[in-house]
Amino acid sequence: MKYPLARPQIGKEEEKAVLDVLRSGVLSLGPAADAFEREFASFVGTRYAVAVSSGTAGLHLALLAAGIGAGDEVITSPFSFVASANAILYVGAKPVFVDINPLSYNIDPEKIVEKITARTKAILPVHMFGQCADMAPILEIAKRHKLKVIEDACESIGAVYERGGKGGKRKMAGTFGESGVFAFYPNKQMTTGEGGMIVTNEIHVAQLCRSLRNQGRALDARWLNHERLGYNYRMDEMSAALGRVQLRRLPSFLRARRTIVRQYEAELAAYQDLIEPPRLSPESTHSWFLYAVRLPRHVSRTKVIERLRKQGIASKPYVPSIHLFGFYRAQFGYAEGDFPVSEEASARLLALPLYVGLTRSDISVIIRALSHALHEE
Ligand SMILES: *Cc1c(COP(=O)(O)O)cnc(C)c1O
Repeated sequence: MKYPLARPQIGKEEEKAVLDVLRSGVLSLGPAADAFEREFASFVGTRYAVAVSSGTAGLHLALLAAGIGAGDEVITSPFSFVASANAILYVGAKPVFVDINPLSYNIDPEKIVEKITARTKAILPVHMFGQCADMAPILEIAKRHKLKVIEDACESIGAVYERGGKGGKRKMAGTFGESGVFAFYPNKQMTTGEGGMIVTNEIHVAQLCRSLRNQGRALDARWLNHERLGYNYRMDEMSAALGRVQLRRLPSFLRARRTIVRQYEAELAAYQDLIEPPRLSPESTHSWFLYAVRLPRHVSRTKVIERLRKQGIASKPYVPSIHLFGFYRAQFGYAEGDFPVSEEASARLLALPLYVGLTRSDISVIIRALSHALHEE
């Protein structure tokens, strides 16, 4: 495909960093992961960061560290990548979905309270597409009902939320709750291949996650003293070394992504009757994981995707609503109509190529092809 949806930026610096690790002979449990954790915590502004093997693994451990388990309920969004709800199932708890805000595609705080029961233990907001969920009311509800907050910030590294509007307190996605989780799969804003990071200000959460990712080993590191049921969710040294370079380059990646989005917006201005660009919440700064336009109701998205593919342009429906996956329908009895705002977004959004290196003329080509594909309807 001439224009894939995503493409990681890997240069000479990344090659050298990984090669240095290979030549050092220390491929796991070494200095690169420790350094990556320190640098990551400093970037987002938390006390601790714990590197893990994926974002999904990070969500699993963050929920375990929060003490969530069998019989508990966790409030979350159906409009997300499936991992955020699956992680709740891993710990034996029940994901309780709350519909989204049609503007931001993030969980609608006004619909949370009606879903709180005696079993509710936590809220797990997902910061979709690179935009922070509306955290001020979410934190207020969590405080009032004594619920923990665990953020799925896997799509939103570098997103900033302004509490209390302009001039209020600015904080990064992932730093509001007890813990926040990031992911570094190759389509994210920065990559380690596979990989993830848990961030927290709570020492006991950091320590528990460190033990759990390493087979439940005691933290005093006495050889093979496994004091709890753990996992192998460690990040290897090659990934960590790659992540350190990517983190240094992240601010320039984020700037480039913003520029590309502005160019998309400029190109789309001519087609406003047909294609709705993403809508933004005023209180947050987007870090642009993904650029998804909203197609008109009457068009066949499948045909549009096929026409774009013939022009060498990748595009994808993103994201299907989790409650309508067969597994969730069968286990919880969900059906169409349960979360109409999420379902409408799932039915109409189309993700377009977004990666560092796309030029203004690439974007003209993509938008012209999209407009042709739509006019063939
Ligand atoms: C990418 C992603 C994850 C987890 O990613 P991994 O592939 O496990 O690293 C979790 N939640 C959301 C919303 C994501 O986009």
